Amino acid sequence: MNKNGILLALVSVGLAAGLAAYTKQRRCPQGEAKLLRGAEVAKEIREDIKKEVEELKATKGITPGLVTILIGQNPASESYVRAKSKTAEELGYFSIQDNQPDDISEADLLALVDKYNNMPEIHGILVQLPLPKHINEEKVLLAILPQKDVDGFHPTNVGKLLIGNANFLPCTPYGVQELLVRSGTPLKGAEVVVVGRSNIVGKPIAAMLMQKCAAGNATVTVCHTATKDVTFHTKRADVLIVAAGVAEYIKGDMVKPGAVVIDVGVNEVGKTAAGKRKLKGDVAFEECAKVASAITPVPGGVGPMTITMLMKNTLKAAKMANGIDV
Ligand code: NAP
Repeated sequence: MNKNGILLALVSVGLAAGLAAYTKQRRCPQGEAKLLRGAEVAKEIREDIKKEVEELKATKGITPGLVTILIGQNPASESYVRAKSKTAEELGYFSIQDNQPDDISEADLLALVDKYNNMPEIHGILVQLPLPKHINEEKVLLAILPQKDVDGFHPTNVGKLLIGNANFLPCTPYGVQELLVRSGTPLKGAEVVVVGRSNIVGKPIAAMLMQKCAAGNATVTVCHTATKDVTFHTKRADVLIVAAGVAEYIKGDMVKPGAVVIDVGVNEVGKTAAGKRKLKGDVAFEECAKVASAITPVPGGVGPMTITMLMKNTLKAAKMANGIDV
């Protein structure tokens, strides 16, 4: 072998070793399942958003604006809202975090929403849920202008989603869909089983994945507490999406070998020694990682995607408000 041949052989061995290490990193320690790290995908999407925002500012003088309204002091809600405001600032958005006491009246909250509806520099309004019991959630969501409803919860936006002409996709399902698409998960004709039928996760993701489009075209089944045999359905899912709010509900023997498992659940199961919230998903990760072909971790899976898709929706809202094609 001549000098060039030896060099080529060495480079090939080096590349093969590098690729093996890279692939190994992305596999779960428990088994062969690929880890679907939403945190990494979210980072990529945020970099694209940041570039687009810079261009929008430079060429059109437009800065996307987002207000997050937080009522009271629920620690989980506080941490979500902080993360949303921080991300908005990092991406160069105009961001307002409006904290209100938990005894704010419904009328005052509606007036606040109206103020932001009429503020041209705000393109997206997010009211952090849940709201205190004395406030009618539906009334508040209805008060947000559909074109500023970047959470995608307004009935107009829900209806548009269902007929396949979505304005804003709700952020968590949007993040789940994006993760599936970017990981190359086949959806056309796939058996998708969703566990949970909430308005914010289960119902919209089911509606999105059954649409006749490239990021859908699946056959979707939705399970809930009245489902006779949840395992019968989960066991035949090519893609299993779990949003039940029950820590480690899905066990390894409920998963079809080779399935793609998306764990939306975030359940607090205690505190760490440092006093931080200890979180578990709805999926028993160790067991299911041995059976699945790909799986999302908790944390670091769906969660970071949710905030990123909120930013994507806000950018879209800013463009729409300025007559830019989206
Ligand atoms: P939710 O409103 O409490 O709804 C839970 C759904 O799961 C309901 O439809 C319920 O059925 C169903 N369910 C509960 N236990 C079940 C069981 N044993 N078998 C079958 N179905 C069952 O929950 P959500 O708001 O959709 O949230 C679900 C989970 O996702 C929570 O852990 C939440 O913290 C998390 N989450 C995460 C993100 C994120 O960004 N990562 C965003 C939103 C939510 P019924 O309708 O019959 O009661």
